Amino acid sequence: MSQDRKPIGMYIHIPYCKAKCSYCSFFSKEATNVPDSYINSLIDELAMVDRYPLETLYIGGGTPSLLSIKQLESIINFVADNFSLPQEITLEVNPESVDLNKLKAYKSIGINRLSIGLQSIDKERLRFLGRIHSSERAVESYDLARKAGFDNISLDLIYGVPDYPLEHKELNTIRDMDPEHISTYCLSIEPNTSFSLKDIILDEDQAFEEYDMIRRAFEYLEHYELSAFSKKGRNSRHNSLYWLREEYLGVGAGASSFVSERRWKNYENIGEYCANPRESYKVGMASEMLTNYERAIEYLMLGLRMTSGLPIETIETFCFPFLDGSKENMDFLLSDGFLVRSDNKIKISQKHLFISDSIIIEIIKKPPPKRG
Ligand code: SF4
Repeated sequence: MSQDRKPIGMYIHIPYCKAKCSYCSFFSKEATNVPDSYINSLIDELAMVDRYPLETLYIGGGTPSLLSIKQLESIINFVADNFSLPQEITLEVNPESVDLNKLKAYKSIGINRLSIGLQSIDKERLRFLGRIHSSERAVESYDLARKAGFDNISLDLIYGVPDYPLEHKELNTIRDMDPEHISTYCLSIEPNTSFSLKDIILDEDQAFEEYDMIRRAFEYLEHYELSAFSKKGRNSRHNSLYWLREEYLGVGAGASSFVSERRWKNYENIGEYCANPRESYKVGMASEMLTNYERAIEYLMLGLRMTSGLPIETIETFCFPFLDGSKENMDFLLSDGFLVRSDNKIKISQKHLFISDSIIIEIIKKPPPKRG
């Protein structure tokens, strides 16, 4: 392993869930457990990738808590033996598929951060979303994780669910649970989900109001990214890699990678992936590097999600020369108060965080130059 190489993040995808949630467009297949053949393919893929030093390890899905302890252990052991384990090792878990013994076992094999797919503690909203856990189970899984000794827990929350408004008392309960980290998601209707077949009308005003409620309820935490809040020193290093355009390697069916200015995605089909788990990495590393235009767009789209903003100097050298009109667009947004400048950085003003995507699109709105 090259010690000179900057450490990268590693993401391992477990594309299985007990049942498909009504809003979910993530790549996953319904199953009650994870077949060993999939684990063998993961290990096969891991065996052939370059031996990068790791900054983070994130096992996500799908529902990684469907893995047996033996399966999880074989993945962790392989990474430990061949790459060395990083400081932050996160496992995504769902409330219905964990118990105290399992959680204790996670701890003992080296998982030190849990991301719990809580989404809500309201019975009706959970049912509407097609989640299979109850509100009691949501809270219980968190308590069990604490009992098992986890001191770094993130909770996922969904807001903007039409007809099921978020209530202050729900946010107060979650605040009293005292998690280290909260990730929030505004409901959207994605193609090929069961919601996309229904007549669901999203209410943007409701979503904005609830985003504001969340911001206020967790104002004692650091609001470090558009959708993420954390206690001091407990932000997600792994997710920050994505937002800061740092490198990560995705392993498993449908996993995405960003290495050496190349982006690729593994086969989003379990059969095709398992037939040749070594191919995606080879093809990905041989693919075309991103153009300066694409890098500049990514830098703004990802980085401006961080509430700390982006250094003006880097925007000037990395973005302006490659994005026609972006300097003028940015000046306009600064003068109108959508963007603010402080400490040699540019960031989206707090009041406009909810509409970050539209602001970023305004900055980069000129048509792209042709490739080549
Ligand atoms: S939201 Fe999570 S648990 Fe539900 S189907 Fe998607 S990946 Fe599985």
